[in-house]
Amino acid sequence: MNATVKLQKSWFKEGHTKSYNFRKEQLVKVKKMLTTFEKPIINALKFDLNKSEYEAYASEIAFLKSEIDHHLKQLKSWMQPTKVKAPLTHTGSKNFIRKEPYGTVLVIAPWNYPIQLALAPVIGAVAAGNTVIIKPSELTPTVSWVLKKMIEQYFPAHYIAVVEGDKNVTQELIDQPLDYIFFTGSVPVGKVIMEKASKRLIPITLELGGKSPAIIHKDTSIDLAAKRIVWGKFTNAGQTCIAPDYLYVHHEVKADLIQALKKYIREFYGDRPLENPEYTKIVNHSHFNRLTSYLESGTVVSGGTTDDQVHKIEPTILDQVTWSDAVMQDEIFGPVLPVLTYADLDEVITQINERPKPLALYYFGEKDEDQQLIMDSISFGGGCINDTLYHIINPHLPFGGVGESGMGSYHGRASFDTFTHEKSITKQTTKFDQSFRYPGSPFRLAVM
Ligand code: NAD
Repeated sequence: MNATVKLQKSWFKEGHTKSYNFRKEQLVKVKKMLTTFEKPIINALKFDLNKSEYEAYASEIAFLKSEIDHHLKQLKSWMQPTKVKAPLTHTGSKNFIRKEPYGTVLVIAPWNYPIQLALAPVIGAVAAGNTVIIKPSELTPTVSWVLKKMIEQYFPAHYIAVVEGDKNVTQELIDQPLDYIFFTGSVPVGKVIMEKASKRLIPITLELGGKSPAIIHKDTSIDLAAKRIVWGKFTNAGQTCIAPDYLYVHHEVKADLIQALKKYIREFYGDRPLENPEYTKIVNHSHFNRLTSYLESGTVVSGGTTDDQVHKIEPTILDQVTWSDAVMQDEIFGPVLPVLTYADLDEVITQINERPKPLALYYFGEKDEDQQLIMDSISFGGGCINDTLYHIINPHLPFGGVGESGMGSYHGRASFDTFTHEKSITKQTTKFDQSFRYPGSPFRLAVM
């Protein structure tokens, strides 16, 4: 580990990663690697998570390829120094911001989209001219193995390396003299990373989680809202950081909404979702047990069956849930959907604002002023009006949390910026000198 970091840091210092052509070629290589390893990636995702081929391709491989295309189109212009204006005191000088890589970056990834979340930050880090060490999650070991094999086949370890292992390995890694840490994972581990990074003042991005609400107001199209919620919640069996964690629905439309949710669960996953070969499993036994314990909160009105042999939990809706139930204490991160009701939007705003700032928030409702009220009154990472998850697939939108749901952002330009240090330069003229700043100058007071 220590040797890999040393190797990368000295190779970085030699300047190989900085030119536009080098960066461009590496991005093209990552794309080629994804094509070559498409089958092994899809098979590994099937083995570790039972991800369907479609979900594996769309949410991991295609997502990354489109992110690479976006970077390739924009990289040259992003890399240009930015000229800036200057005050009169700087007459004769040129002032600009150089875009510089940090050096050696560590990317720590979780297991839920184990290819996408390991490689999307790598795209930004490579585009910005850094070397990268990837630490994949130990909970999806087959994917982690494939990731290591493909990186080793395409990149030398002094440029991009994969270090496999559990939390002890991560802890050892973050003790190294890294130049940047990009962490995606849970809030408690995010705190550990931040504390450790602070010892060496290593800059960090934290992409964390939390409870992301979907608010369903009475003036929305209930059927369409239900369809988009079922898709956003049960894709990857709810193991998505920005999945709607719980529903907050106007009491007048709750019964209709639950009916519509049931309809779409049946339409998307069939009458017996546990037997549906396309339905993702829960990653391991301990998460399976954690999630099944939530079925004791409120009343199960849809789903509720589980299979501990294959770690599957049916898409489940819980009604009659209160804020004090177990299911409302922590991020659910699974296919269990509690429903709370409200009478007016002020109550919604007060309740959500009393809790940690969500990573995502979804508002379903037609009136502009209500949409505006929610956007103005609640702080959250990002989200959608009248949809779920869709904001994450627009490379023009920075993606990240706020408060307990994270700090910093990435995707598209935001990725390049995250892994880039902005070095501010004043290039002074030597043709003349202004004396006002010097001791004894008669003009000195004029500028104070
Ligand atoms: P996790 O925090 O348990 O693990 C993430 C990574 O940290 C793994 O590589 C793991 O090996 C390492 N790790 C675990 N414990 C550690 C410790 N004590 N010290 C150092 N490293 C440690 O998260 P997870 O279970 O893999 O992923 C689920 C969480 O990630 C959820 O909270 C979810 O919301 C969040 N998440 C966030 C995003 C986002 O983009 N904001 C995306 C996906 C997942």
